[in-house]
Amino acid sequence: MKHIDEYRDATLAKALIEKIHRTVTRPIRLMEICGTHTMAIFRHGIRSLLPDTVDLVSGPGCPVCVTAMEEVDRSIKLAKYPDLILTTFGDMLRVPGSSSSLDREKGKGADVRMVYSTFDAIQVAEQCPDKEVVFLGIGFETTAPTVAAAIASAREKGLANFSVLSAHKLLPPAMHALLGAGDIPIDGFICPGHVTTIIGTSAYKRVVAEYAIPCVVVGFEPIDILQGILMLAEQVEEGRAAVEIQYTRGVSEEGNQTALKLMGRVFEPCDAPWRGLGLIRQSGLAIRKPYGSCDAAARFDVSVPPAEEPPGCLCAQVLRGAVRPVDCRLFRKVCSPRTPVGPCMVSSEGTCAAYFKYHSA
Ligand code: SF4
Repeated sequence: MKHIDEYRDATLAKALIEKIHRTVTRPIRLMEICGTHTMAIFRHGIRSLLPDTVDLVSGPGCPVCVTAMEEVDRSIKLAKYPDLILTTFGDMLRVPGSSSSLDREKGKGADVRMVYSTFDAIQVAEQCPDKEVVFLGIGFETTAPTVAAAIASAREKGLANFSVLSAHKLLPPAMHALLGAGDIPIDGFICPGHVTTIIGTSAYKRVVAEYAIPCVVVGFEPIDILQGILMLAEQVEEGRAAVEIQYTRGVSEEGNQTALKLMGRVFEPCDAPWRGLGLIRQSGLAIRKPYGSCDAAARFDVSVPPAEEPPGCLCAQVLRGAVRPVDCRLFRKVCSPRTPVGPCMVSSEGTCAAYFKYHSA
């Protein structure tokens, strides 16, 4: 028997879909900048419910995918250090670097371990005091506060053999970079609910003011996404550009001040390389000097030569919404989740992986 909520949601979804169809009078292009949205849009078949005039495109929202090749190469270099344990989240193990991957190095004998949180990495450091333990930190503003908490905790404990290689990214600067490049037409952003829970809607004010781009912060249920699309469509049709919240149950203007303060205590903004977007000013997080003993980039030589994308892989363009995975000649033929050529096929939140799983054409 169906739960009452399923009937309620189906009725609401139908009403939202009909209203989107009535509202949109011209072609619009909306970009989601969150891997969780990418997967939810595919999983629930949202595209097939929309009028042809609404084009949904994925942007740089998958944390594994936007990690630059040189950052992957740095972690591989670290993994080759003797007496060093490299820890990171599962998806990063299979991301190809210039000539290897963490998984391949593990196969050759490097001590590379998958962990579920930075605190697991701290535990490894406590259990292996004669080894250096480095955590490769990736992700956006949702992940960074927990990594900051782990770094603060390691320092408080005086844990001398634990450090973090920070490859964290900040989302608003990437939105600026995308719009500033001016080559990808975007009529509105579907902003991530979880990142915005941390940074607050005030973080988007500048991008809205500078580029007159509608932004709606959206949750992850099908109803949330449909309502968010409708709110964006209404802004576009009315010629408005504002930050609006669909995900009212989790998001505020000021964000999570406790998390932001912790992040600000441990990290400082730095210029950072993004796959597909290049070097973006003040878009990354470097570990502040007082926490330097936990900064792997300061403690080890992580210099690597400039890196190039795998031949034929269009991940860089996919991440800017310039092409779709099906435009890549390697898609399905050479590149699949079993034999990934680029990170967009490795990550469970990658656009290529989503197309592979859900797109039939
Ligand atoms: Fe890269 Fe594979 Fe995606 Fe092509 S299909 S862009 S090779 S990850």
